[in-house]
Amino acid sequence: MPRKMVDAGANESRITHKITIMESTTHQFQTEVRQLLDIVIHAFYSDREVFVRELVSNASDALEKLRLKQLTGVAIADPARQLGITISADEEKHTLTIADSGIGMTEEEVIEYLGTIAHSGTKKFLEAMKESQGGTQDLIGQFGVGFYSAFMAADSVEVTTRSWQPEAKPVTWISDGQQGYTLQEAPADTPRGTSILIHLKEDAHNFAQEHTLRYIIGKYSNFVGFPIDFNGEHINTVQAIWMKNKKDVTTEEYEEFYKFIGHTETEPLTWMHFSADAPIVLNSVLYVPKESPEAMGFGRCEPNVSLYCHKVLIDSKPENLLPEWLRFLTGVVDSEDLPLNISREMLQDNSLLRRISGIITKRFIKHLETLAKDDTEKYESFWRQFSRFIKEGIVTSWEHKEALAKLLRFESTFTEPGKLTSFADYIGRMKENQKDIYVLYGASRAQLENSPYLDALKARGFEVCFLTDGGDQFVIESIMKVDDKAVKSIDRADLELPPLDTPTDSPALGEEEGNKLTEWVSSAFAENFSKVSISDRVTSAPAIALQSADDVAPEVRAYLKAMGQPVPETHPEIAFNPHSPIVQKLATLRTEDEELAKLLAGQLINTALLRAGMLEDPSKLADNSQALLEKLLSK
Ligand code: ADP
Ligand code: MG
Repeated sequence: MPRKMVDAGANESRITHKITIMESTTHQFQTEVRQLLDIVIHAFYSDREVFVRELVSNASDALEKLRLKQLTGVAIADPARQLGITISADEEKHTLTIADSGIGMTEEEVIEYLGTIAHSGTKKFLEAMKESQGGTQDLIGQFGVGFYSAFMAADSVEVTTRSWQPEAKPVTWISDGQQGYTLQEAPADTPRGTSILIHLKEDAHNFAQEHTLRYIIGKYSNFVGFPIDFNGEHINTVQAIWMKNKKDVTTEEYEEFYKFIGHTETEPLTWMHFSADAPIVLNSVLYVPKESPEAMGFGRCEPNVSLYCHKVLIDSKPENLLPEWLRFLTGVVDSEDLPLNISREMLQDNSLLRRISGIITKRFIKHLETLAKDDTEKYESFWRQFSRFIKEGIVTSWEHKEALAKLLRFESTFTEPGKLTSFADYIGRMKENQKDIYVLYGASRAQLENSPYLDALKARGFEVCFLTDGGDQFVIESIMKVDDKAVKSIDRADLELPPLDTPTDSPALGEEEGNKLTEWVSSAFAENFSKVSISDRVTSAPAIALQSADDVAPEVRAYLKAMGQPVPETHPEIAFNPHSPIVQKLATLRTEDEELAKLLAGQLINTALLRAGMLEDPSKLADNSQALLEKLLSK
């Protein structure tokens, strides 16, 4: 039983009116509800008509739930009562009533649902509100605050409801949206369902006007799967837009449907309307929002794609209908092949559902591919909002990763800053003698542009992709290849690069001197390098550290470290630039002043390791710099 907070005043009134009125108890709102209502009531919100949408949506949900109950064959109160919504307004009394013959609520349910924050959108709204200072208007539009939005326009709200359960007593809930609400027994002849009576605020009297309401309701009434009566007149044609032919649905209808099911005032970024007859009968409309619901640190969003069987709602938020990485979608999936009386447990592990998921995912990826081709600008705004989801998809689903890899976008040595390219375009630009696709990881383009790893690639005219998102190494390790071309990180020692057409002619270290230098470095440093070499891989710095074939990539190492797991040792290759005056000097210094040579070599090596993200202990570089400077100044 829920806890009732009965205050003294309520008790008193109960005692005095014991015989004349029905029992009434006063309840406090949960603190969060009070905070929410305070905002809802006081916010200046231009789109406050959304409260009608929220209440109609609740009525529709309640009817869907009742319809599903009917299918199970249990006994239901008022079994002959028609399923539908009745909206009536009284311009003189400034009231508006939205009633449904749906599932209704028991007293316990009323206390739970209309006094606490149960609805996920409302929770999100509160979180978002704490994050942002002011600007709540936008947030109300973005998340929808469900039932409580009634208080945007109401001085007080009365909810009278009778549950579908034949034995449950009808109750009336009354509140002015301030501290709490009162509950009282409703007349015994209250019909099944819920009726919401709104006493409109003075500045909201227009919501009782026939033409205003007709306009508001008209926007989405046709998406409701039950008849709507408005002031005694039947106003909607029940139609499920996902069952219609694409040609017969206007852009406006798609957008309004999105706003209705997404509880939002913003238009969607793009949508896919997909129908199939074989191998499974499927009808689906899926929307991508304009902004990622996980942007700005709002936490993980919940999937918002409902599952229908021939227009009957089976589950409004089935958990495994679509893969996790598609959780940003809003929409409807309808399949006539699902058994109507499918239970939630059956949904958990259903092979038909898995097939549906596979088909829809594939089609959606195709939709994005087409969007990228037909409307690059729109695709790029999608990419900026949702790239992380696509990358998550690559890492978590082996069946779709090849198709998803085509959706990846990045900058490269060939693009202007801020301009994106794809692997397909990259492959189109590959040089004849180029075998692999080259990538470089780092924090930003600016940082990567000066990387000495680029030297060897630039010298050959090969393009290098800049991968600057955390997690990109995991993404590339998952795909490995694009169109049979291996994707190689250019900090690796095992790159197979063709010889340069025109070797550089600046004074180079002779082969013999070079060999002596590498031998000396190998023996002088106890560190475990897989190899020390003189190489044309580097021209802009004296030395670089290259990952050897069995080294664990830097990002993976950082991840292991963060997870508190043992990090495998690395054995990089140190490559010296034979054209560097410093390296040439080092070669002679080695015999003249070995102590100084060692400090100089240490400086070059540690700097190279630092740049490669392989310097486990940065104090090594600091200590070496200090010793080197002291030695030089004491000369
Ligand atoms: P949501 O609809 O997202 O769950 P709301 O704030 O709109 O959130 O509604 C809260 C809850 O109140 C609903 O989940 C439902 O259980 C209950 N409720 C609201 N309106 C009705 C109604 N007309 N009939 C039955 N239950 C309702
Ligand atoms: Mg709702």
